[in-house]
Amino acid sequence: MTIRPNISTTKAVTPPAIREWLSTVRPMLIDGKWVAAQSGKTFEVFDPATGDTIAHVAEGDKADVDLAVKAARRAFEGPWSRMTPSERGRIIHRIGDLILHNADELAAIEALDNGKPKAVAKAADVTLSADMFHYMSGWASKIEGKTIPISALTAPGAEFVSMTRMEPIGVVGQIIPWNFPLLMAAWKLAPALTTGCTVVLKVAEETPLSALRLGELILEAGVPAGVVNIVPGFGATAGAALAEHPGVDKVAFTGSTEVGRLIVQAASRDLKKVSLELGGKSPNIVLGDADPELAIAGATSAIFFNQGQCCNAGSRLFVQRNLFDKVVDGVAARADKIRLGPGLNEDTEMGPLVSRVQYDRVTGYLASGRQEGARAICGGEGLAGSGYFVAPTVLVETKPEMKVVREEIFGPVLVASPFNEVDDALIAEANNTIYGLAAGVWSGDMARALRVANRLRAGTVWINCYHVFDAALPFGGYKQSGWGREMGQAVLSNYLETKAITSRIG
Ligand code: ADP
Repeated sequence: MTIRPNISTTKAVTPPAIREWLSTVRPMLIDGKWVAAQSGKTFEVFDPATGDTIAHVAEGDKADVDLAVKAARRAFEGPWSRMTPSERGRIIHRIGDLILHNADELAAIEALDNGKPKAVAKAADVTLSADMFHYMSGWASKIEGKTIPISALTAPGAEFVSMTRMEPIGVVGQIIPWNFPLLMAAWKLAPALTTGCTVVLKVAEETPLSALRLGELILEAGVPAGVVNIVPGFGATAGAALAEHPGVDKVAFTGSTEVGRLIVQAASRDLKKVSLELGGKSPNIVLGDADPELAIAGATSAIFFNQGQCCNAGSRLFVQRNLFDKVVDGVAARADKIRLGPGLNEDTEMGPLVSRVQYDRVTGYLASGRQEGARAICGGEGLAGSGYFVAPTVLVETKPEMKVVREEIFGPVLVASPFNEVDDALIAEANNTIYGLAAGVWSGDMARALRVANRLRAGTVWINCYHVFDAALPFGGYKQSGWGREMGQAVLSNYLETKAITSRIG
């Protein structure tokens, strides 16, 4: 085990209001009320910086999911569907306002529960969550069908008017992961509400707290009872029950590709609509004409942001040979300086991984990399002491068939390799993955960078930047990175049915 000089040993202090909020069991939200699990069971939530228990949360299961789905159905058929688009939009906008109003508290909850630095949670997770509701609120009144001139070849001489109506899909089951707990809730809830759907949200068992606080804000904003139900619980119980519940019209899932397959299987019996945002192993390509300092900073944040726990992390770095040593050494030098510590400490730049399971998984990959012959030029190990800290790591001398190159690690581990020319072989290697979520290209020549971007099989390509997310921009995956898109106008279709209405008028 490495003793790292720049790991904060100061004990983090939980703000008193949050300590107070967590001093009683956090219930689940069903039909506008905060209730215990039907079973009476609770589960523990841990601080990943120490491994200590920070909260007890009602443990949802099949019976709770069933109550939540029924409440969502009543709300869908009741007040929510009768509300005007304008009213719906205003309520959704208010959720965004309330998130901003409570930004500090939400950021602290996220830092405590997930481990990410509080300043990052505030600047990224909380800000983008609020913006998602604000952006989506405008769409509520702009979901339009079309009038369509038809030829009606089987009824010559007759006259018709045809139009489409975009209707909400109904009751939506949403299952989210632990890497951006609040933001993933916002990405899912905002478009579902905008389109007029009702929701049962299953939050990740590792990080249920910020979404439960969001549930309180959702009620405060005036969302009617039953429109949003939040059921914390485990994947194999509450999650599976939601994915297979016959009263759910659509399942929206973000998480691992492995569980994505289980979701599809569970949803297949009733042929529910499914959208999936899954894993990635994104290539980040530095061309020989790139600004090396920009590329170094960008490649560092591409992999190490959020402790590397991003589905879109730039985890495979390809650098043209003339810049390889400079860029890779530059990333390693920056990685070595990143200050690790509890998310709640002001000076923390990188937090712990979210859980023991994740720590074991990531350190397992580091061991596998070592065994297969990769060399760590920085990091390479988990860190001694309490909490699930892993040193930011750059691996070189990798081969395309190594596990660390092929599989999603979901931790602060970068694999770097050189290339000689910007040619078909480079593009083939960049695309040589089952995933297709994101990619980065760094170059001083925009036309050249765009030509590379066009050939990458990925739902998002960033040029001379990385991790630029916006509520207006669609995000999602090619290949086994998913089905459908989150955010932007594109997400609306995940939650809408198209009805064609034809009327004979002569
Ligand atoms: P990770 O590997 O990053 O923890 P998962 O895909 O396991 O991601 O988890 C993402 C979400 O999916 C979590 O809310 C988890 O509880 C849920 N989940 C896990 N297994 C299942 C399952 N079999 N059915 C439905 N949801 C599940």
